[in-house]
Order: sequence, then C-alpha cells, then structure tokens
Amino acid sequence: MAIKKVWLDESENDCISCGVCEITCPEVFEVPDRMIVKQVANFDAYEAAIRDAVESCPSEVIKFE
Ligand code: SF4
Repeated sequence: MAIKKVWLDESENDCISCGVCEITCPEVFEVPDRMIVKQVANFDAYEAAIRDAVESCPSEVIKFE
C-alpha cells in the first residue's frame, strides 16, 4: 500500500530524540529536537526505510498511512 502521510504521534509525548529514525531514513526524518517529518514529495520512494524506522523507533511514535 502506498504511503501517503507520515507523522509523529505526539499524543503521548514519547519521542526521546534518540535519532534512530534520522539514521535509518535521513531523507524523511530529522531530529533537531523532537523528530520532524520533512516535506517529501513521494514517500513511496523511501517506503522500505520508513517501515524500518517505524519498527526501530523505541517509543513507537512514528505513524504512517
Ligand atoms: S526513533 Fe522514535 S523516539 Fe527516536 S527520535 Fe525518532 S521518533 Fe523520536
């Protein structure tokens, strides 16, 4: 399934700024303080890396649809 949207679930305030997402997929994630999702034209180009980041996030706060 195509990825249309990627975001940080801030409902729990659990991002610990560990940087794993940025290391896994720097084209999409940036962690200047808490994680932010970059404006990416086509998330599908990075689908595998986005899924890796979602699974690697220790706080499980990266969401996508
Ligand atoms: S991997 Fe998860 S906890 Fe770590 S900086 Fe990224 S969003 Fe935050």
